[in-house]
Amino acid sequence: MKVMQKMGFGPKWLNWMWNCISTAKFSILVNGVPAGFFSSSKGLRQGDPLSPYLFILGMEVLSILIRRAVEGGFISGCNVWRGRERAVHISHLLFADDTIVFCEAKKEQLMHLSWILFWFEAASGLKINLAKSEIIPVGEVEGMDELAVELGCRVGKLPAVYLGLPLGAPNKSISVWDGVEEKMRRRLAAWKHQYLSKGGRITLLKSTLANIPVYQMSLFRIPNSVARRLEKLQRDFLWGGGNLERRAHLVNWEMVCRDKEKGGLGIRKLNLLNRALLGKWVWRFACAKEEFWKQVLIAKYGQEDFDWRTKKAAGAFGVGVWKEILKEAGWCWEKMAFKAGKGNKIRFWTDWWCGDSSLSQSFPHLFTLAAHKNATLEDMWDQISGEDGWNLRFTRGFNDWEMDWVGNLLQVLRGHMLTLEDDSVLWKGGNSGQFRVKEAYSLLESPLHFAFPKKNIWVERVPSKIVFFTWEAAWGRIMTLDRLQRRGWQFPNRCFLCGCKEESVNHILIHCTVVKVLWDLVLGLFGVKWVFPLTVKEVLFSWRGAFVGKKREKLWKSIPLFILWAVWKERNRLAFKGGEFAIQKFKHSFVCNLWGWAKLYMGEEPVSLIGFLEWLASR
Ligand SMILES: [Zn+2]
Repeated sequence: MKVMQKMGFGPKWLNWMWNCISTAKFSILVNGVPAGFFSSSKGLRQGDPLSPYLFILGMEVLSILIRRAVEGGFISGCNVWRGRERAVHISHLLFADDTIVFCEAKKEQLMHLSWILFWFEAASGLKINLAKSEIIPVGEVEGMDELAVELGCRVGKLPAVYLGLPLGAPNKSISVWDGVEEKMRRRLAAWKHQYLSKGGRITLLKSTLANIPVYQMSLFRIPNSVARRLEKLQRDFLWGGGNLERRAHLVNWEMVCRDKEKGGLGIRKLNLLNRALLGKWVWRFACAKEEFWKQVLIAKYGQEDFDWRTKKAAGAFGVGVWKEILKEAGWCWEKMAFKAGKGNKIRFWTDWWCGDSSLSQSFPHLFTLAAHKNATLEDMWDQISGEDGWNLRFTRGFNDWEMDWVGNLLQVLRGHMLTLEDDSVLWKGGNSGQFRVKEAYSLLESPLHFAFPKKNIWVERVPSKIVFFTWEAAWGRIMTLDRLQRRGWQFPNRCFLCGCKEESVNHILIHCTVVKVLWDLVLGLFGVKWVFPLTVKEVLFSWRGAFVGKKREKLWKSIPLFILWAVWKERNRLAFKGGEFAIQKFKHSFVCNLWGWAKLYMGEEPVSLIGFLEWLASR
């Protein structure tokens, strides 16, 4: 309360806070029956939404105590040096309930620290849990145990874990990824024994599995060997294999990882995602203004020109983490342009701030004539003459034949002017002007001009197992007899449905006379005549439904998926369970399925099957 008073909170607000804390009532279950209430006299409760905020206010006290101790020379903290000068001083880091205090490994300093902690406890009523605290030596420290006694806590060692990330581990060490791999394996083991359709597997893979490594990947570069192992885990999970059961991987992983537009499932490749995530730091650094982490990095590496980026980390000097991030600076800066504000941090000729590239690149000839090649926008902006405008200075007057270039340059500059805002950076790799990991990822993905009938496969609201099957079929990768034969299985190949032609993907799903009945049924209902293309992919490509009208379009789009699924299910029933094939029953069950789906997902509710068919046939 006193802390808040000192910080200038009003009495009314303090009163509210006090009421919130002090009126809490606790109850204890005795033999399952609540036995009366009693109130708490002090302390913050866990799980109270107010607690974290009050806690942070309390920690401010500790922060001030430590700062004073540093100012008085009682604790030395940690210095980031550049050359001979001390650039940034760090005495402690607080994040939520994690606290790091830096000091020298001397008995007096630790004694001072333990006094501070004691005062803090006395002043705030917060108890420091020494059992959960560690003293971590950096480098060689003698008499560590003795020092630990001074504070009364355990001795830890690097690498440690801070905020869930490894701290102080050697760069590129593979062991820091063990946790991630372990987590993924554990998750998989829990799911493996459950029955999951492929659609369900994709959903799980995308929602959780693929995200497990992301936190760590957003700061550290993932070693190739680890990425390969993790991707193998994902792959085996998707195709339903484990170490014991080896199931066929029907479509290769490179394809699976492509964007849906390009025929993949949109699962992201770890090393590319990693690069996109690391690249975000390059962008963040350019956007950051006075943030502490930026100051530390600048202190350590020095800034280049203005403070858009640090100098390159040369040689053995510098921390591995930032060095790895800087490796992504190239492609990032290719996509970053400047937005002119005051113009004092942008170079007129050599930075990209208007047009499609830097002016020195767009107008190389004029650049050679420029009087001040390094001038900033501010230098080139004329305010003195009363009329704001660009004052382009060149070393000599122009020849007639150079006038065209000058005209073009003025054209590019038109509409660009300085403002009172700070200069900033713009991301040109997407539409929003801001860095988005998703867009950065697709920039890094090798461009591949390859058409895939995405829209007619990933149809909204169709169950994902059906979508997935259609996707496999469009690749021609389902386990038909001809494919099994090619894999060396010995048996005659006869279509399970018509019994006369050989079974192949395109036959069983499109051209088989029996299957034709379904297609014709649907086309007949919609009143369409169509000569079928050769392959499943082409059928999906050319399945356009503008003519069926808005009302029925959604259903129209989902029809190929349902036909393919119905046929394949029937085929598998005959192949694995045997029995008779009855065309009427087959037709009937297909139409009923379609109707059931339409009722469930589309809110269309013709009362009867006949009504549904009439609705389909209506215009
Ligand atoms: Zn057939």
